[in-house]
Amino acid sequence: MREIRTGGRSPQRIQQQKRYQVQELRRQRRDLIPDQIDRNRQHRDEYHKSREPLLDGLTSQYDLELFRKAQMRAAEDMERGFEGRSVDGGLKKIEFGRFEMDTWYSSPYPEEYSRLPKLYICEFCLKYAKSVTILRRHMAKCIWRHPPGDEIYRMENISVFEVDGKKNKIYCQNLCLLAKLFLDHKTLYYDVEPFLFYIMTENDTTGCHIVGYFSKEKNSFLNYNVSCILTLPQYMRKGYGKMLIDFSYLLSKTEEKVGSPEKPSPISVLSVTEVTGRVYS
Ligand SMILES: [Zn+2]
Repeated sequence: MREIRTGGRSPQRIQQQKRYQVQELRRQRRDLIPDQIDRNRQHRDEYHKSREPLLDGLTSQYDLELFRKAQMRAAEDMERGFEGRSVDGGLKKIEFGRFEMDTWYSSPYPEEYSRLPKLYICEFCLKYAKSVTILRRHMAKCIWRHPPGDEIYRMENISVFEVDGKKNKIYCQNLCLLAKLFLDHKTLYYDVEPFLFYIMTENDTTGCHIVGYFSKEKNSFLNYNVSCILTLPQYMRKGYGKMLIDFSYLLSKTEEKVGSPEKPSPISVLSVTEVTGRVYS
């Protein structure tokens, strides 16, 4: 163990001396002269709260230096805090259709996007943009007004579209990236080809707005094989989650009857519509 050299003095004695020194330094403080008071007032009037007030003469030189050191340390801590945030994904909000939503979890968007505080997403084709200007420009020429694939169910203003992960790979990948912002456990993002996605929409004159979805593996031996299910936050607690679950169950039942899990035939679509229609009418 290394000996702490105190020059023969005890730690208590050193502390006491330090205290006297500080007291002496604080005693050296002089009152503000009228000139300084004027200068401080002018500075305050000019900058209000946008700049730090003049501190010279307000306290002893010793305390001012102490304050500066603490201020510097706080600034460094704050900077470190921001650095940390950009490492684990800076994305905190998304603009989606007419909604602005807080995100709940990080999602593996390309790094240049995921480190932004906010992402702008086209609610129809799910393309993502870095700024509101880019999104507006995209929306002006985006011709999509509903998910791709086949509309396999419609009742009043609700539709369900079946989207093949192989045929609409980019759309399904973008859907998974969006979903991950609200799901803790999801692991599927890019390998979407073996899956079918069932997207529920609420329809009005401006288009079919995505409410939620579930995905299923195409060639699964299990009947009830939903791999992921999500209702978007703005549609939560409105019964859509239950509708999605019931729909997936009925779809599995129908597939079982028709015996074609690859793609529901018109008959299976009809029976799903019938059964689901009865449940929700
Ligand atoms: Zn679009």
